[in-house]
Amino acid sequence: MQFYLNGYAPGDPDVSKARLPDAVDVLIIGSGPAGALLAAQLSNFPHISTRLVERRDGPLQVGQADGIACRTVEMFEAFGLGQKLMREAYWVNETVFWRPSKQDRHRIERTGRVQDSEDGLSEFPHLIVNQARLQQYLLDYMRNSPTRLEASYGLEFASLTVEPDGEHPVVVTLRDVAKGSETTVRARYVVGCDGARSRVRDSIGAVPRGDYANHAWGVVDMLAVTDFPDIRLKAAIQSADEGNILLIPREGGYMVRLYVDLGDIDPNHREAFRNITQESVIETARRVLHPYSLDVKSVVWFAVYQVGQRVTDRFDDVPADQVASRLPRVFIAGDACHTHSAKAGQGMNVSMQDAFNLGWKLASVLEGRAGPELLRTYSAERHAIAQGLIDFDKEWSKIMASPPKDPGRPELGGVDPEELQAYFVKSGRYTAGVATHYAPSTVLTAEATRQDLARGFTIGMRFHSAPVVRLADARPMHLGHAARADGAWRIYAFADASGKRLRDLAGFLVESPASPVRRFTPTGADIDSVIDVRAVFQQGHLDLKVEELPSILMPRKGCFGLIDYEKAFCPDLDHGPDIFDLRGIDREKGAMVVVRPDQYVSNVLPLDAHAELAAFFGKFLLDRH
Ligand SMILES: Cc1cc2nc3c(=O)[nH]c(=O)nc-3n(C[C@H](O)[C@H](O)[C@H](O)COP(=O)(O)OP(=O)(O)OC[C@H]3O[C@@H](n4cnc5c(N)ncnc54)[C@H](O)[C@@H]3O)c2cc1C
Repeated sequence: MQFYLNGYAPGDPDVSKARLPDAVDVLIIGSGPAGALLAAQLSNFPHISTRLVERRDGPLQVGQADGIACRTVEMFEAFGLGQKLMREAYWVNETVFWRPSKQDRHRIERTGRVQDSEDGLSEFPHLIVNQARLQQYLLDYMRNSPTRLEASYGLEFASLTVEPDGEHPVVVTLRDVAKGSETTVRARYVVGCDGARSRVRDSIGAVPRGDYANHAWGVVDMLAVTDFPDIRLKAAIQSADEGNILLIPREGGYMVRLYVDLGDIDPNHREAFRNITQESVIETARRVLHPYSLDVKSVVWFAVYQVGQRVTDRFDDVPADQVASRLPRVFIAGDACHTHSAKAGQGMNVSMQDAFNLGWKLASVLEGRAGPELLRTYSAERHAIAQGLIDFDKEWSKIMASPPKDPGRPELGGVDPEELQAYFVKSGRYTAGVATHYAPSTVLTAEATRQDLARGFTIGMRFHSAPVVRLADARPMHLGHAARADGAWRIYAFADASGKRLRDLAGFLVESPASPVRRFTPTGADIDSVIDVRAVFQQGHLDLKVEELPSILMPRKGCFGLIDYEKAFCPDLDHGPDIFDLRGIDREKGAMVVVRPDQYVSNVLPLDAHAELAAFFGKFLLDRH
């Protein structure tokens, strides 16, 4: 067996490496959470050629982030991965607070215990699982997708140029890490998901702005024996004089992560942090945990994680003064755009949300459903979210790291346990990832003029799922879980009291030449492939007949013209308030809730606002006949 003729290549020599084509639609640099999620989403589109290149010699095996916000699990459910994640992960149901004992300030004592996420915030829990596992789920998803997409490892982004025109105007130079040789790939679009030190970011002249005095944490994933009683609960532990720890129980029942706060780094003396060892971090942890013991049996991963709070000035290659005249071709996502403390557990989550925002937009443009102007909304929307995240993170880190108030010496300041706990609860929506709120815009997010019709589906926020019963097969389920990460828009029509407005809407969508479903669905494509219409009726499923549903709710699809029976739902009347009450739907008038492919509510309209609905989609979708 002969191999390595043209240079060393890591991995199994029996597995042939897919050659990178000379030209692709989307070239993604970096297979971290942002790159893997984007690649997974695009891998679903057989007509879009996507490549994911990564400079490591294989998938990440251990370490880095581990917090998975409720919103991220909601998003994973659209990839069919929510249940798998929940099975493997640790569930953060409650958080405890430990502070110096009032009797003896050299000992810590439990001062509070709170529910981690407030009731009803999401149908999914806050989870903890290794970033490497989460990335693997996405890599497996890609491999099973219609395009059978595989990451290309050992390839490093070196540089790019954007030519003024041409089909594939972005010319990228990649370096083979093992051989040192260079190749050129042309792409229609390039996305730099290459982390905090992004070279793609540098190559488009975007600049991270903010705090360069990094904060440092010693992070240790360990298997240990301890008499600290809350070792299987997330715990914020603050000692009087030895510093503070964030303790995160990990998946599998035994492993635990300790974040030991090492304080701010003087940018002029970074070398001090390079000398920090895992032994010294564990020693600090032991002192903070006093009087409890910590017998470390195995260190699974150790890092000194240093990060500053920074936001890049723009997330695409178009400088501010050219926004009106140029369209973006290169984007950045994830840590390339924003970095912040690890303590609020946001990095990996927000990075994947960036990618989810961008993925469907790229797919829409590349499939010819929408004009390329849609791509301008990515930087505009996500930059505002990143800035909000940094503002939140600054406040959060300050409060979480503040020394505990010493009742004997109030003049020294600090935060008392009740204050800290109250702040934690108040910030719950943010840390769960469900506080994202896109501002009204000319294209994607409507002004909230008819929010009164569906008060619980806030325009600009994520579609907050609720329980329903699917009519055709009487299956109790969550309405939001019917949506896949397939790039389709969704109209959820909530029936009015008489049902007449809903029937009229169904008729308009199927029959009228002005119907956005008719205008924007390509000839020959399934009727729900661009705009997927679903309805929720007011009566229970036993009081409604499937055979009386309008045709848009029982569409014929696929090469055999089979009937899709999964478009009509009824309230779940057996378990507490129904979806109309939970989400504040006007029972008399009903409502139409328009939801983007990344699950954010774009518009709430009356059921009879046919012209307004058509005009809304007409702003960015292209006629396809
Ligand atoms: C060492 C380390 C420790 C961390 N520890 C924690 C933690 O304890 N808690 C926490 O919440 N967060 C932590 N983070 C941050 C968290 O992992 C990130 O917020 C999250 O991974 C962001 O995802 P991303 O996809 O944007 O970037 P990353 O996960 O950084 O992924 C970037 C990918 O791009 C690849 N890449 C970089 N440059 C190139 C190039 N030129 N060519 C090709 N590929 C390239 C990298 O190898 C990497 O796979 C850590 C990050 C690092 C790097």
